[in-house]
Amino acid sequence: MAALSRSQQVAATEAVDPERSGSLGHFAPAPVLAFVGLGANLGNAPATLAWAVQALAALPLTHLVAASSLYQTAPQDCEPDSPDYFNAVAQLQTQLSAPDLLTALQELEHQAGRQRPYRNAPRTLDLDLLLYGEAHIDSAQLTVPHPRMHQRAFVLQPLAEIAPLRVSAQQLQDVANQGVHQAGPLNFLQPS
Ligand code: AMP
Repeated sequence: MAALSRSQQVAATEAVDPERSGSLGHFAPAPVLAFVGLGANLGNAPATLAWAVQALAALPLTHLVAASSLYQTAPQDCEPDSPDYFNAVAQLQTQLSAPDLLTALQELEHQAGRQRPYRNAPRTLDLDLLLYGEAHIDSAQLTVPHPRMHQRAFVLQPLAEIAPLRVSAQQLQDVANQGVHQAGPLNFLQPS
């Protein structure tokens, strides 16, 4: 192997030793394109989703790339007479790691007053990490791609709207009977 020059040695040392690298030498993680599924069926759900998209855009090391329209869905696997769901999908470019992004999503759910009295309870805000680049993650806290995203029209339809290459026609066809319809624009302030 060729010997490193002095400047290459310094650069290599700084790459692995942040204490020595100074502010200019820190390595920022490469940005990743991530997709977040949003859902709500308690309170003013459309307003909560608009707030949540704005809050996603304001996360550290993160830019909002795109947000779908609002979709309205009859509740599935829920108690009778549960209110309809509103759903959307947001695309982010982020330098947060996947676990840090999940933590940020859970913090936003908490800020929106999310409680978990029982499984599939109505919720003020549900945020799911659908895709994180091309990553496949299977940890105790996080499964990516989200394990149920391909069974859900309320995920696939808004995802197809903003990222058509991420959803096949067959996948959309497979969930076409789920009664999801577009319910207008998601009214949030676009980031400047
Ligand atoms: P939920 O009731 O949908 O809010 O589920 C939240 C739980 O699912 C948390 O314990 C998360 O750690 C876990 N989880 C696993 N994978 C994901 C994912 N891709 N996005 C969001 N939550 C996830």
